[in-house]
Amino acid sequence: MKNPKVSIVGAGLVGSLFSCFLARRGYTVDVFERRQDMRKANISAGKSINLAMSTRGWTALEKAGLRELMEPMAIAMHSRMIHQEDGSIDVQAYGKEGEAIYSISRGDLNKIMMEVAEKEPNVNFHFNKKCVDVNFEETSLKFEDSETNESIESKSDLIFATDGAFSSVRYGMQKTERFSYSQDFLKHGYKELEIPANSDGTHRIPTNYLHIWPRKSFMLIALPNLDGSFTVTLFMAYEGKYSFENLKTDEEIMDFFKEHFPSALEHMPNLLQAYKENPTGSLVTVKCNPWVHKNICLMGDAAHAVVPFYGQGMNAGFEDCRILDDIIDKHQAEDWQAILAEYNEMRVPDGQAIADLAIRHFVNMRDDTQDDNFLKRKQFEKVLMKHIPEFLPQYSMVSFSNIRYSVALKKGDDQIVMLEKLLEKYPNESDWETDKVLNEMRSFLKKY
Ligand SMILES: Cc1cc2nc3c(=O)[nH]c(=O)nc-3n(C[C@H](O)[C@H](O)[C@H](O)COP(=O)(O)OP(=O)(O)OC[C@H]3O[C@@H](n4cnc5c(N)ncnc54)[C@H](O)[C@@H]3O)c2cc1C
Repeated sequence: MKNPKVSIVGAGLVGSLFSCFLARRGYTVDVFERRQDMRKANISAGKSINLAMSTRGWTALEKAGLRELMEPMAIAMHSRMIHQEDGSIDVQAYGKEGEAIYSISRGDLNKIMMEVAEKEPNVNFHFNKKCVDVNFEETSLKFEDSETNESIESKSDLIFATDGAFSSVRYGMQKTERFSYSQDFLKHGYKELEIPANSDGTHRIPTNYLHIWPRKSFMLIALPNLDGSFTVTLFMAYEGKYSFENLKTDEEIMDFFKEHFPSALEHMPNLLQAYKENPTGSLVTVKCNPWVHKNICLMGDAAHAVVPFYGQGMNAGFEDCRILDDIIDKHQAEDWQAILAEYNEMRVPDGQAIADLAIRHFVNMRDDTQDDNFLKRKQFEKVLMKHIPEFLPQYSMVSFSNIRYSVALKKGDDQIVMLEKLLEKYPNESDWETDKVLNEMRSFLKKY
């Protein structure tokens, strides 16, 4: 199958990027999206709603020839700025000098990718087309047009499902034999709020940081936008002492912010309005296996919805696109059974690994950023990074490398055990740069 006719379901971040990859190959590509065209609808999706892009995302954009277009839209966040309960501030660098994660507008990213793909005559986007059924034998899809209520069928050689965490195509796969599936909701949800820009368009709090106000069972984070505002997200349980259920009246909301987030509240003049208007979103982890059935393949959140705490959902979805494109290169686009089988074999363990890492990172951001042992280990990691170039902490493997997530999970966990052993043996900082400590670590790393 040299020049397949391809359908992509979902023109979100991953579907739009994959359409760019396939457009470059000259395939006939139809992208079906449930919503209206965000470019025409004047949806401000993206004006303030942002995401953290890290190495995996950039690597995929680079392979698709889009990196240069996107870089001017990104704001580097080289460190976490931790706003402690006592009002003090800690700064924790994410990686080595020069390493950063990047805040980028979801909507702008999405729109640009659609525009780039659509420039190719072989790519067509179809909006207001909700996928309602999939036929695996025929490689065909059924859509409902939300404007005309018409029912439309489309047949192709290959289907890529990028229709998000509640994928309709995956729902079809669930009815096939031996399809494993799990869906877990956190007891926490999230609500998006805002720190607006100063009147001169500058940021009210320091720009190049991911701000975190960790408070054990709940937390607030803020990522900068190009327009001078910050998108602020409150993560909190749905029910319980500190919960969305218990924050309903103006007084309850204001008292809560005054008590727990006074340094954020002073920059949030529209808190009450935003709190009441914006929905509370749920946080889901979806794991499934296989991701491929016949000529139909899951990618992005449709294959692996992860909680947002590692900032990796989109990055992982972009990596799906890059790796599948690498595999197509390798097989010279001829043997699609082999291509899809290899993608499935490689990516399923990685999707499951990032799901597990993301859940753990929630605890990390919420609690460990204040924990002395965690902070000591971070210090020790910095010393090791200075002397042992091949040493990468787990966070760096995930965010600043393209090492497989499954390797980052296993190696990172083993490393943490080793670091803790070394810290027990050598609690004094003065020992950390000595040959005996560094050589023990070097010989541990040789195992990998
Ligand atoms: C609060 C929050 C913060 C996050 N922060 C980060 C971050 O900092 N970094 C990061 O990497 N990731 C982050 N993520 C994760 C990221 O948003 C997702 O991983 C990413 O959007 C997945 O892209 P996707 O294209 O697979 O799915 P989506 O972006 O969900 O796109 C799916 C598309 O499919 C369409 N669709 C759905 N159903 C149908 C249907 N039946 N028919 C046709 N079309 C359909 C939808 O309308 C949508 O356009 C965050 C997520 C949340 C909730």
